[in-house]
Amino acid sequence: MKSLKNFEINAETKLACLIGDPIEKSFSPKIYNAWFNHFKLNYVYLAFKIPPFKLKEAINGLCILNVIGFNVTIPHKISIINFLDEIDSQAKNIGAVNTVLNKNDKLIGFNTDIDGVFYAFDKANVSINDNTCLIIGAGGAAKACAHAFSIRKCEKIIILNRSLEKAILLSKEIKEKYGIESLYGELNKENIKKFSNISDIIVNATPLGSYYALNESIIPKDFLRKGLVVFDVVYNPTKTKLIKDAIDKNAKVVYGIDMLIGQASKAFKIWTGLEPPIEIALKLLNLS
Ligand code: NAP
Repeated sequence: MKSLKNFEINAETKLACLIGDPIEKSFSPKIYNAWFNHFKLNYVYLAFKIPPFKLKEAINGLCILNVIGFNVTIPHKISIINFLDEIDSQAKNIGAVNTVLNKNDKLIGFNTDIDGVFYAFDKANVSINDNTCLIIGAGGAAKACAHAFSIRKCEKIIILNRSLEKAILLSKEIKEKYGIESLYGELNKENIKKFSNISDIIVNATPLGSYYALNESIIPKDFLRKGLVVFDVVYNPTKTKLIKDAIDKNAKVVYGIDMLIGQASKAFKIWTGLEPPIEIALKLLNLS
């Protein structure tokens, strides 16, 4: 087994972790351990593969081990809510939790994915206000985008998804919670073309383009244009086919890796009260 550089794990080391399935490709252990190390905090971050039927047991175990907190990923972001003592307002509103703080044996749930979306758009210097946004996908990442865009007062949200019923549900939720005009439709080329033409921002919130579907892009290159903002939530690789196509077409791009770093940075602050150095994460991921 490889030894950890700089880390000295001892009897007082406290645990933070990720629970989900799959977790093997997660960047989180790299990022958080580097930040803990930077501040000389006696914490360590691990990733645990937990299937849904073991979620309750896993949470009991984490409480017994007195973790400082944990991140939650697919498929537990919604079901985790049943096991928490408190949920902050942002997480309650979106109905999903990706960060849990263990405060004096009370588990408090947060959603920092929304903060991640804000961070990525702010970093790219892209305003959401008054824009029409096309979101492809209706899962967890799409939900975070739809809520973030609504909070930042976009004009209209269009949701296209492979399973139409999920697009309908998310669209309804946005209309009811924020009073924002929201359309939905089936995911097909015709709709992607029609709606990308009237949109200012388009988002891929599906896994297409990620490491196991590298050469795929949900949005044909021909539909991209100068003046459009293209956000790909996929962060591995950083430059997906969609992002490369968008750059070729002189569109403005917003990176999924920045959403990831933005949400991690907020979670770190929730656990430690400290603002982590973003440049350490960028360097680690070879992005600086
Ligand atoms: P999810 O909740 O499982 O949702 C996946 C979405 O993608 C669903 O709308 C699904 O459609 C759609 N989809 C899956 N495969 C598809 C295909 N072959 N063709 C068309 N649509 C397809 O997952 P998620 O949490 O939203 O994650 C989606 C991606 O975002 C992943 O790659 C994940 O790593 C990434 N992500 C990034 C961040 C970040 O910080 N950058 C945060 C969260 C997630 P159906 O409803 O029809 O199944």
